[in-house]
Amino acid sequence: MAQTDTPRSDALFARAQKTIPGGVNSPVRAFKSVGGTPRFITHAKGAIIHDADGKAYIDYVGSWGPMILGHQHPAVIDAVVKQAAIGMSYGAPTEAEIDMAELLCARVPHLEMVRLCSSGTEATMSALRVARGYTGRDKILKFEGCYHGHGDSLLVKAGSGLLTFGVPTSPGVPAELAALTLTATYNDLDSVRVLFDANPDSISCIIVEPVAGNMNCVPPRPGFLEGLREICTQRGALLIFDEVMTGFRVGPTCATGLYGIAPDLITLGKIIGGGLPVGAFGGRRDVMQKLAPLGPIYQAGTLSGNPLAMSAGLALLRALDDASIYASLESRTRELCSGLQASADAAGVAFTTTQVGSMFGLYFGSGPIETLAAVGACDIERFKRFFHLMLDRGVYLAPSAYEAGFVSAAHGEREIAATIDAAREAFALIAK
Ligand code: PLP
Repeated sequence: MAQTDTPRSDALFARAQKTIPGGVNSPVRAFKSVGGTPRFITHAKGAIIHDADGKAYIDYVGSWGPMILGHQHPAVIDAVVKQAAIGMSYGAPTEAEIDMAELLCARVPHLEMVRLCSSGTEATMSALRVARGYTGRDKILKFEGCYHGHGDSLLVKAGSGLLTFGVPTSPGVPAELAALTLTATYNDLDSVRVLFDANPDSISCIIVEPVAGNMNCVPPRPGFLEGLREICTQRGALLIFDEVMTGFRVGPTCATGLYGIAPDLITLGKIIGGGLPVGAFGGRRDVMQKLAPLGPIYQAGTLSGNPLAMSAGLALLRALDDASIYASLESRTRELCSGLQASADAAGVAFTTTQVGSMFGLYFGSGPIETLAAVGACDIERFKRFFHLMLDRGVYLAPSAYEAGFVSAAHGEREIAATIDAAREAFALIAK
């Protein structure tokens, strides 16, 4: 059977669409922006995922980030199985939550107190509430193309699925609320200053992805994050680093440590749950002390700090406590990017890559890629063809030109070489 034959996934997708809107529980999974049938996954191990038609793929999605050590890491599986045997959730405090909070505060600079929740969306929504409650200001400033989950205030000119579906702001977000969300241009400090000048003493916070991973993978220009820190300090606003994607992905001390900036609040998710639903927000002690039950700003969750998620996350974070892992992840990713670049160059295809640690971006266009406009100027049609040619050759890339890719520690030389071989064929076909 050829790799393109997907009768089981086709049948499952048809069945799914009868009871699940669009057949998926998160829009980008639907392959809408690349066309074709999404692959229904049956199991995964290491760097490889398997679909319902018995095909194997080298996985560069990694569950959209959490699988930094690959699928089915033995320490994570062992921890989850042990915890499941003694209880799934108690709705009362556990020692594992303290272990997680202590570990996060020890590893992430400027994280003095942290509250655990169940998703990245919850983390960013709650961080905004804290920033508004602490400063007594209602407006927030975000960047066009950055995605911070699907909270109402943050679904304004967002990245990820909203970019691929061409909806700048979702219907259902009240206009009065959207008006409180100001949007600036990523990597452009002047666009931020203009908004602060026009809205004196009313902006509670700037929320930013320190590396923008939801408009593909756009690193911060030198001085951009420093500039945001300075502006926030001058104007009495809080700086929130949304590290749901970058946290423990770009390095052992997250982007906060990598770039040496002191945000007031930090949000986390993905990797800290080891593949189970999780989120966290925290930062300055005096700010976090305003949170209920200590302070008046309310936030809660039935499954917050869930024992299963804590066991998976702690096992993964402890396994990541080895500096050599990040060095080898970075060099593997560099190998991948330079191999892809060389193959594209050889085929005469205009192509650029970006990389921060084991996060990477692929673009059909020439760089530099520093803004959403530069990403949008790339050839999306070529990306779609490349995506399918790679899928046919057993390589599973993010099904969108606006998502970062992820390399895991389970991606060895063999997987990288196979990916580059597949890309060589794909680029040659695209060049025709
Ligand atoms: N923030 C960032 C930077 C993200 O990339 C995401 C999800 O991709 C979120 C927040 C939302 O997290 P979740 O999907 O767990 O709600």
